[in-house]
Amino acid sequence: MYRSSMVSKPTTVRTTTALGLNLNQKRERRRMAKIINRLGREFKPWHHFTKDPFLLLVSTVLSQNTNWRNTKIAYDRLTSKFRTPKKLATADEREIEELIRPAGLYRVKSGRLKEISRAVLERYGNGLDRVLRMPYKKARAELMSLPGVGRKTADVVLAFGGGMDVLPVDTHVFRISKRLGFASPEDDHERVKLKLEMVTPAGKRGRAHMFLIQLGRRYCRARNPLHHRCPINDLCPIGIRYLKTNRDEPHGSLT
Ligand code: SF4
Repeated sequence: MYRSSMVSKPTTVRTTTALGLNLNQKRERRRMAKIINRLGREFKPWHHFTKDPFLLLVSTVLSQNTNWRNTKIAYDRLTSKFRTPKKLATADEREIEELIRPAGLYRVKSGRLKEISRAVLERYGNGLDRVLRMPYKKARAELMSLPGVGRKTADVVLAFGGGMDVLPVDTHVFRISKRLGFASPEDDHERVKLKLEMVTPAGKRGRAHMFLIQLGRRYCRARNPLHHRCPINDLCPIGIRYLKTNRDEPHGSLT
């Protein structure tokens, strides 16, 4: 659901400062700023198919377990007929299945889209604008009370549909934050998110999310990370160890 473009200016969300980072916080902020700058030379921020928060939610359901291309095909087919909670809630489920078939798991996804649409319609009317006017924590809790909507999806909707300055944590961001030493090995999703947000410059959290995901796909993979080719290996504790150990053996490996 992504292609390169500028990210709209987000509103800042406050995070607590009482979490106790491993290293000096100012130094960590400078390190994160360098990482974002460096990654910005290699990767581009993408834009989602839409900024409409409800349709953003629809696209995240469609994107589960499939690639960008299939998601886009299914999204375009579906939204050419049904674009609002009301239309989707009252649509024939078989028709939705046919429209979103290219995205795979179309029966499950069709059922989920109907459930979400009904819940949005009942609670907030024909869209999510009411939710986006709420403070961040309340808005997040409301989105997470919708069927099948988790923390990451809620944060994606708030960041890219609501313009809030939050840093959604997916599996790549979670893994890389720990390797980079911004979070501890035992930290759960919420602590990783708060720690990352504390060290990420205001207004750059959406961008950091997108760059770290691309870093995770191309270099900092779950298995066999490519430390030797990683563009930020001199800013990463594991990369620095790798560089020292492999000064004379450029193809060695550390995980
Ligand atoms: S140096 Fe290695 S561990 Fe560090 S960010 Fe790059 S690929 Fe990941």
